[in-house]
Amino acid sequence: KTFIRPRHGCVFLWRLLADIVFIVDESTSIGNKNFQLVRSFLSSIVSGLEVGLTNVRVGIATYNDTTTARAYLNTFHDKEEILQFIKNLPYNRGGTKTGAALDFARKEIFIEQKGRRKGVQQVAVVITDGESQDDVTDQAKLLRRTGVTVFAVGIQNASKPELDMMASHPPESTELLQIAGDPKRTVFVGNFDALKSINKGIITDICTSDGKENELPCLTARKRENILRFLCSVSAACEDVQTDIIFLTSIFERIPAKEYQTMKDFMKSVIHKSTIGRNKVHFGVMQFSNDQQRVLPLNRHYSKEDMSKAIDEMQQVNKSTHTGKAITEATKYFEAIQGGRPDLRQSLIVITDGKAEDYIVRPAAALRAKGVVIYAIGVLDANPAQLLEITNSPDSVFNARNFDALKDLENRVILKLCEPTG
Ligand SMILES: [Mg+2]
Repeated sequence: KTFIRPRHGCVFLWRLLADIVFIVDESTSIGNKNFQLVRSFLSSIVSGLEVGLTNVRVGIATYNDTTTARAYLNTFHDKEEILQFIKNLPYNRGGTKTGAALDFARKEIFIEQKGRRKGVQQVAVVITDGESQDDVTDQAKLLRRTGVTVFAVGIQNASKPELDMMASHPPESTELLQIAGDPKRTVFVGNFDALKSINKGIITDICTSDGKENELPCLTARKRENILRFLCSVSAACEDVQTDIIFLTSIFERIPAKEYQTMKDFMKSVIHKSTIGRNKVHFGVMQFSNDQQRVLPLNRHYSKEDMSKAIDEMQQVNKSTHTGKAITEATKYFEAIQGGRPDLRQSLIVITDGKAEDYIVRPAAALRAKGVVIYAIGVLDANPAQLLEITNSPDSVFNARNFDALKDLENRVILKLCEPTG
């Protein structure tokens, strides 16, 4: 079942048909206070899901030396019941046999007799401080092999020094990776207090429409929150919207190939989440350097496949310092003669590190005067003043700390692109 709710000319599609089992570490190392935060975390996630026997089914197991099924996938019939249950979720302390818990989940919970549905997405969310006393690798593999997507939420023991928490690869992350099998499905929160801020992020980031915060199972886009994003499978999409969108990449120092690829992936992903076609959304891409430019006009491709292919074929160019000039150049590609549809809503998305050496105020104002809305995505240490000069509106400025963080902006950018102009 697909839920569609309109929001400003965009729709959220959340394909919330899933069987989700939370596998919760209740060992002594977690501690009373932190276990209470785990309860709140679970409540917050469950609150945001369309829980019910026909939509999202939720199961819960806790484990120490042994694993206890607290709820099977067919135990609860409604959200209130399960929230009440989570409030009183027992905490018994003890050892940490994460591998055994995964084994238990596979054999005792993710089974049809206990409510597992055929043809429905199977998800396990393991919440642990990552200090298992048994091997997790093989058991995690076995569980994944039965078609269960496994997420690992790592929680750092609050007693550990903060420095450790800041490390890019905390020791516990290895175990999380073993559990989840893919770094994209690991979430590391520095400590239990950080769970609170994730909860907040869930609710505030893209789910605040209509003021009914908890009702919307959508989740934020921050890197650490992949798990939450996945659980909601939110995809924002421009549907039934006719609009022209051009990406202008203006990155001044030569960036590593990996980051260049990340930027391409970002563009492809935004395109992928939109409905493109002759009478729908058109995309164009422009890439500038000081001595060459590459332009993919708005009327070149009308399918996602062709657009993706064209982006894949883009080659990295040397540095460019003339964003102002590039914006002026972009102006003509919004015109009808170059394939634009000036009667429709038109947007330019400038991806920049904000270090233009020419004047950008006037070219940007001229383009805006033609009715084109300009968005600026600043990466790395982009100069905020310059981003604001480009857009003339703080609401149209997005910041990505680094290239990886671009990924996190997708849904927010898409929502902006599809908001009504008036
Ligand atoms: Mg432990």
